[in-house]
Amino acid sequence: MNDDPILSAADLLAQKKNLLIFTGAGVSVESGIPPFRGPGGLWQKVNPDFFDIDHFMSHPVESWKRIRSIFYDLWGQCAPNPAHLAFAELERLGVAFSLVTQNIDNLHQLAGSKNVIEFHGTLGRLRCTQCAFTGAPTKELLAGDPPTCPDCGGLLKPDIVFFGESIPEYALNQSFADAESCSVCLVSGTTGEVMPACMVPQTAKRRGAVVIEVNPEESAFTAHTTDIFLRGKAGEIMPRLVAEVVKRLS
Ligand code: NAD
Repeated sequence: MNDDPILSAADLLAQKKNLLIFTGAGVSVESGIPPFRGPGGLWQKVNPDFFDIDHFMSHPVESWKRIRSIFYDLWGQCAPNPAHLAFAELERLGVAFSLVTQNIDNLHQLAGSKNVIEFHGTLGRLRCTQCAFTGAPTKELLAGDPPTCPDCGGLLKPDIVFFGESIPEYALNQSFADAESCSVCLVSGTTGEVMPACMVPQTAKRRGAVVIEVNPEESAFTAHTTDIFLRGKAGEIMPRLVAEVVKRLS
C-alpha cells in the first residue's frame, strides 16, 4: 500500500479488473448543478414533496413551474467537467466496463461515456402519463403550462424517477448484475442515502469488490463499505487518478 491513496487506487485500476463506476449529484456540482443534500443543496430551498409522484399528478402546474426553474432552465447550458471526462477516459482505456449514475443530467454521455445506466432516468426525455408518447424536452413541448402530450393531450412528466415510483426495470436489473460481477467499484459524488441506489456499491462490496470513493466529505459508505477513500472534489481528484492510471498502462 502506498502512502498516497491515489497511487494505491491507480495501481488497482491499472490492473484492468472489471471496474464499475457509480456516481451521484456531487460529480455534477463542478458543472454548476446543485446536489440535493449538503451545503447549497436543493433541499434547503425546495420542498422534496415536489418530487413526489402523487404531488406532481395532483399539482401539475405548480410542480412544473419548479421543475422548469430547477432543471430545464439549466438544461443544455451545463457542460461536463473534468470528472465526467476522466470517467469516460477510464471506459475508453478499457478499465471501466459500466457506469451506473443516479444523475439525470446526461453529462456522462456528453463527456463520452458509452455504457451508462441511468438509475433514476433522465431529464432528456419527456413521457406522457396517459399514452406511450416520449419526446425530447424541446422548447415547444416545455412551453405548455403544464406541458401536455402532442398525441393525446395528457400530462407530460420528465422521464425521471419521482419519489413513489419504481426504478426502471432494465436499470435496476443491469446495475445489480454489474455490481455482482465487478471486482472494483469506484463511487463518487453521492451521500449513499438514497435507496435502493445505495445498495449497488454495497452489493459490489459484499461480492468481494474493492471500493474506492471520491468525495470531499465522508458519506454513508465511507466507514463500512469504502476501502480506499480519496478526499476531495471529483473534478480535481479524478484527472489526477486517471493520469496515474495512464502512466501505469503506457
Ligand atoms: P446528494 O445530493 O445526496 O449528495 C451529494 C454528494 O456529493 C455529497 O456526498 C457531497 O459531499 C458530494 N459532493 C459535493 N461536491 C462534490 C464534488 N465536487 N465532487 C465529488 N463529490 C461531491 O446526491 P445523491 O447521493 O446523488 O442523491 C441525490 C438524488 O438526487 C440522486 O438521485 C441524484 O441523481 C438526484 N440529483 C441529480 C442531480 C443531477 O443529475 N446532477 C442533481 C441533484 C439531484
